[in-house]
Amino acid sequence: MAINIIDELVDNLTKLPGIGRKTAQRLSFFILSMSDTEAKRLAEAIINLKEKALFCSICFNITDKDPCHICSDNLRDRKTICVVEEPSNIVAIERTKIFKGLYHVLLGALSPSEGITPERLKIKELLSRVTEGEIQEVIIATNPNTKGELTASYLKDVLKAYNIKVSRIAYGLPIGSDIEFADEVTLSKSLEGRRAL
Ligand SMILES: [Zn+2]
Repeated sequence: MAINIIDELVDNLTKLPGIGRKTAQRLSFFILSMSDTEAKRLAEAIINLKEKALFCSICFNITDKDPCHICSDNLRDRKTICVVEEPSNIVAIERTKIFKGLYHVLLGALSPSEGITPERLKIKELLSRVTEGEIQEVIIATNPNTKGELTASYLKDVLKAYNIKVSRIAYGLPIGSDIEFADEVTLSKSLEGRRAL
């Protein structure tokens, strides 16, 4: 029996987070209605991402060249590092256009119950960047939820040993939320209103 080619795409799309069967069907028929060029571009973008994406060896952002475009941009303020949990958080903060410093992605947040200890995150790498000297301020922009707060308080403690300013983004963000989904105005305000730890 021939595989139903629509079902094949639907099955694959339902593996994506937040995509139920109904949405997957709608997307599949939409893709079918796209021009050949558009549909190919979409398929190629997925292949490219898997083939070329790597972590920046400095900040652990997702990039196709190492160091990433942010770490290698000499116009950025190299004295400030904004610490986030995931590469997608960088996209959210960059959209606000108010932060001109560098980033550091932890690739997760502390969660002792799930075995996520400090050694599992890119904390050692953050400390070695701070040790190198140029950094004057670390802004902790982990999510305003239990894991994010735990991570922020751990970072505050370990960063005490260094002669730098440590700040936390303000609580304009709803508690328990994810900065990835914050709107630009809220995120801008929470960065501007950051408080020293
Ligand atoms: Zn980088």
